[in-house]
Amino acid sequence: MLRSLTIESARPGVQQRSTTALALAEEHYFRIQKEDEQIGAFLTLCRERALEQADRIDRMAAEGNPLPPLAGVPVAIKDVLNTRGVRTTAGSKILEHYIPPYDCTAVARMEAAGAVVLGKTNCDEFAMGSSNENSAFRPVHNPRALDRVPGGSSGGSAAAVAADMAVAALGSDTGGSIRQPASFCGVVGLMPTYGRVSRYGLIAFASSLDHIGPITKTVKDAAIVLGVIAGRDPMDSTSADLPVPDYVAELAKQARGLKVGVAKEYFGEGLDDEVRHAVESAIDKLKHLGCEIVPISLPHTPYAIPTYYIIATAEASSNLARYDGVRYGYRARGVKSLSEMYRRSRDEGFGAEVKRRIMLGTYALSAGYYDAYYLKAQKVRTLLTRDFEEAFQKVDAIVTPTSPTAAFRLGEKSNDPLAMYLADIYTVTADLAGVPGISIPCGNTRDNLPIGLQILGRHFDEATVLRIAHAYEQSWAASALRL
Ligand code: GLN
Repeated sequence: MLRSLTIESARPGVQQRSTTALALAEEHYFRIQKEDEQIGAFLTLCRERALEQADRIDRMAAEGNPLPPLAGVPVAIKDVLNTRGVRTTAGSKILEHYIPPYDCTAVARMEAAGAVVLGKTNCDEFAMGSSNENSAFRPVHNPRALDRVPGGSSGGSAAAVAADMAVAALGSDTGGSIRQPASFCGVVGLMPTYGRVSRYGLIAFASSLDHIGPITKTVKDAAIVLGVIAGRDPMDSTSADLPVPDYVAELAKQARGLKVGVAKEYFGEGLDDEVRHAVESAIDKLKHLGCEIVPISLPHTPYAIPTYYIIATAEASSNLARYDGVRYGYRARGVKSLSEMYRRSRDEGFGAEVKRRIMLGTYALSAGYYDAYYLKAQKVRTLLTRDFEEAFQKVDAIVTPTSPTAAFRLGEKSNDPLAMYLADIYTVTADLAGVPGISIPCGNTRDNLPIGLQILGRHFDEATVLRIAHAYEQSWAASALRL
C-alpha cells in the first residue's frame, strides 16, 4: 500500500521492525521500474547509495536504537541539488556527465536524519520553466493525466511523490517551482522563507530568489522535512541564524482565531472558473474552522511578473557565466581558439529557454538599460515586499490559488514563452518578497485534475502556514470519510 505510505507511517514501521528500510527501498524501486518509463520523473537512480543507507538504518533499528525522524524513508531529490558521487545534471546537457564532489547541505541533512535517497529527479533545465518541458532529457508526464504536464520546474519531484515512487522529495522554488508542480500533481509543496534552508550545494539559478523545500503527501510530512533541513549553515552566509521551531508540535494548535487575508488581486482576470470555485470553497471551509477571513489588497501584484522575469534572468545570466567549458561540464570538440571553445560549448550545451534567459538578463544588466530595467525592478521588488509587510500587520496568513489553471496539456504552451511566464502570476510574488508559502490540494476539476490552494505567511513563520494547511487538510480528510 504505497499510496498511503507517509513519513509519519513509514518510520514507526522501520523502528518496530514490522518492515525494513531495505524492503521500503526495494518496493519503491520496483514501483519506479513499473511506472517511470511512462512518467519520466527520474533522471538517475542511485541504488547502491540507497541500499547502503537502508542497511545502516536497519542495523540501527535491530540494535534497538531510537531512529532519527526520516529513518528509512525513501526520498527523491531534484537534480539541481548536488549529490556526492551521483550525477547531477540540472536537467541540462551542459552538466550531463557532472559528478559533484560534495553533497548539498539539505541532502546531507536528509540523509543524516535517516532518509534513503532513491535517485535524482527530472526538472526544467536549470529550473527555468513551469512545465518540465525544458528538460534537456525528456519531458515528465503528470501521473494524474499522462497527456498533461506535471508543472515545473520541480516536475519530476512532484510526479515521483504523486505516483508513489517516493514518499517525499526535495525541490527548489525560484518563482513557484515547488508550489506549482505540487498543485498540478495533487501533492503538498512547501517553500520556506528565504534564508530558512541553506542553499549550499544548490545549482544556482537566481541566488536572491532560490529556495529549497519539501514536496510530500501530507502537511505533517512537510513539517517533518522542514524541521530536518532548516537552520543555519556556515556554508551559506544567507542562511538565517534563528531557532527552528518544532513544526510538528505547532500543528497541534488549531487554526481557530487566526486572521486569513484574501487579496482581490489574486482573483482577477485569467483565473479559471473551476479553480476559483475550489479556492472559494476552501476559504469557506477555513471560516468554518474558526479563521477570520479579511479582505486585503496587495496593490503591486500586477507588476510581479515583469519584475520577476527581469531579476531572475539578470541573476541567471551572471550565475550561468561559469559554464564556460573550462572548469567542468560540457566542452565542445574540434575548436580552433579559446573564444570558439567558449562560444560553442555554451551554444551546444544550453537549451533554447536557458539561452533566452541569458540574453534577457544580459540585456537588462547592460550599460544604458541597467537603470531602466534592473534597478527599476529592484525598486518594484521593494514595493511588492512592502505590500506583504503591510498586509501581515492585519492578517496572519494569506490564501490564494496556487496557479490560475489546473495542469495544462503537454505542448500547449511550449511555443509561447510569454503565456508560460504569465502562468506564474500567483507564485512569483512570494519569492520576490522572501515570504514562505505552501500549496495543498483543495479539490479537482471536472476532468479530475488537482487544484492547489496556496497559503502564504510572514517571514520565518512557516509554523502558521503549516497550521492552517494542516487544519484544512484534516477537515478535508474528515469530510471525505463521511462520504
Ligand atoms: N516558472 C518560473 C520560471 O520559469 C519559476 C521557476 C522556478 O521557480 N525555478 O522561472
